[in-house]
Amino acid sequence: METKSFICINCPLGCPLTVTVENGEVKSVTGNTCKRGELYAVKEVTAPARTVTSTVRVLNGERPVVAVRTKTDIPKGKIFDCMKAINAAEITAPVHIGDIVIENVCGTGVNVVASADDELG
Ligand code: SF4
Repeated sequence: METKSFICINCPLGCPLTVTVENGEVKSVTGNTCKRGELYAVKEVTAPARTVTSTVRVLNGERPVVAVRTKTDIPKGKIFDCMKAINAAEITAPVHIGDIVIENVCGTGVNVVASADDELG
């Protein structure tokens, strides 16, 4: 039996969660104030994932970079490779919110999309 403790990041309350795991299976979650905290705790222990936010270089834009993010969470273990792919990427203006900047980033099945606009410079 193993116990893991961490803070719920789903709202500003930041409840301290404790998860008991046995043979890779979650046996109990305590410390959560709501169901979201329980779901987050189970996911964090069994398949941790995050949304990645960053910026990508823009060619011919009003600004040199545009904000981007993964459309949904990606596995935590893929974050470093995802950041490398984002750092190597470029997009040509005009860029609009929701434009796909990288398709299926690092084989995650998730696209990196623009989260801001950038018009021609
Ligand atoms: S358990 Fe619920 S109330 Fe507590 S931080 Fe998470 S989302 Fe917020």
